[in-house]
Amino acid sequence: MNTSLAELKSKVNGSLIMPGDPNYDEARTIYNGMIDKKPAAIFKCKDTSDVVKAVEFAQKHNLEVSIKSGGHNGAGLALVENGLVIDLSEMKGISVDPATKTAVIEPGNVLRDVDKATHEYGLALPSGIIGTTGIAGITLGGGLGYLSRKGGLTIDNLLECKVVLANGEVVTANENENSDLFWALKGGGGNFGVVVSFKFKLIDVKNVYAGPMFWPLEKAKEVMEFYDAFTKDAPNDLYGFFAFLIVPPGDPFPEHLRNKNVCGVVWNYTGPIEKAEEVFKPIRAFGPPILDFVQEIPMPALNGMFDELYPPGMQWYWRAHYIKELTPEAIAANIEFGSKIPSIHSTTHLYPIDGRVHDFSNSDTAWGNREARWSQVIVGVDPDPANADKVTKWCKGYFDALTPYAMGGAYVNFMMEEGQDRVKASYRGNYDRLAAIKAKYDPGNFFHINQNIKPAG
Ligand SMILES: Cc1cc2nc3c(=O)[nH]c(=O)nc-3n(C[C@H](O)[C@H](O)[C@H](O)COP(=O)(O)OP(=O)(O)OC[C@H]3O[C@@H](n4cnc5c(N)ncnc54)[C@H](O)[C@@H]3O)c2cc1C
Repeated sequence: MNTSLAELKSKVNGSLIMPGDPNYDEARTIYNGMIDKKPAAIFKCKDTSDVVKAVEFAQKHNLEVSIKSGGHNGAGLALVENGLVIDLSEMKGISVDPATKTAVIEPGNVLRDVDKATHEYGLALPSGIIGTTGIAGITLGGGLGYLSRKGGLTIDNLLECKVVLANGEVVTANENENSDLFWALKGGGGNFGVVVSFKFKLIDVKNVYAGPMFWPLEKAKEVMEFYDAFTKDAPNDLYGFFAFLIVPPGDPFPEHLRNKNVCGVVWNYTGPIEKAEEVFKPIRAFGPPILDFVQEIPMPALNGMFDELYPPGMQWYWRAHYIKELTPEAIAANIEFGSKIPSIHSTTHLYPIDGRVHDFSNSDTAWGNREARWSQVIVGVDPDPANADKVTKWCKGYFDALTPYAMGGAYVNFMMEEGQDRVKASYRGNYDRLAAIKAKYDPGNFFHINQNIKPAG
């Protein structure tokens, strides 16, 4: 095998990194510091022809492959033990066409790169809330973030993909060409091939009226009820995700709040700026909040607001639910665990999946649950490996306590390796259609280091 890998190395444009190479440990390091996998080789591809060679090589030598773009996957699915990592992080091409309001983006870009390129033209792509997340993985799983209510999921803005299939063929997938594959890529994750290019439509967003607001923990019940009722019929221009958190012990937070367990909402208002104060009047009157950082800021400033707080390399364990309703029992369970956040970085977020997301039906894309109102993620995080068990235990306890009030399944991008039943429950009525498309494009389940959809038949 090593001889063959060495031979492959001589034929590619990118670089092949193997155990013993000085940069091997760096190359196998991903965002989640809990993950410690040792691949046989990491192939940093430079272009599509490299990806084709990677796929053909792995098929010929019966090697397992994983696909790595931004390396943010919580379960560490970017890496494969003893297999070949198809690493796309150096494929960073990005071009924005302001005339058609579209962007063509290679998979090595992270959200921060996308923001920078689009903001220049007063445009934005609805995606996630941390700038270091990969555009590829987030898109293929769905894509939830500050612009979901205004612009839908990231996949609702996807126009086309270029894909290297399991047999090495390079195809285009859009509404007219390989439309079944295109449908499956919109939420079906990395199951169908290696996407080497994405084309998106963009929306008009430049500055927003946004930021966090906190309330004391003692008011959590009233805040959750208010948040639920207020956002239910709010216009799509108003977005807010609810959180339980510990106020970070540093600037810009006031000293008297630091290290305090609080609840809060991170808001994003995309409507006319002159109307913002008016829209926020009832929100500010409620409570009032003990911290209010909501103000006019550029969209990328909102998207990058928490990047420093969450650098790569920390211990991450997370679980997620789809939530339809915040019943009194669900609120009580949230308060019980939200009041016991085990570390500064641990938190829970309820990401809205309504507004524009509800303009599409479950069968429009592979994404399985548009009836939900939130995707709730429970995140146990700590920089110190000695605290990994503590944050994991809290996360699992919180998850279990919410299970009776959740819809079953979860957003696949927020899942650990939780088994096949959970993958099926996440795709719900779309699973069988996905399995049939998988059988057509990847009958041997070559791409299986993912939230796996098994080929039908
Ligand atoms: C700090 C943090 C913040 C996050 N915030 C959000 C958020 O706001 N909204 C949200 O929706 N999600 C969010 N996520 C989840 C995120 O969407 C997933 O972790 C996603 O997998 C990250 O994409 P990536 O390219 O970085 O992943 P990687 O770890 O590189 O890849 C993960 C998987 O995606 C698939 N994949 C990646 N690239 C390709 C490709 N080019 N072709 C085919 N398959 C591919 C593969 O199956 C791979 O195993 C966040 C994650 C973290 C850690």
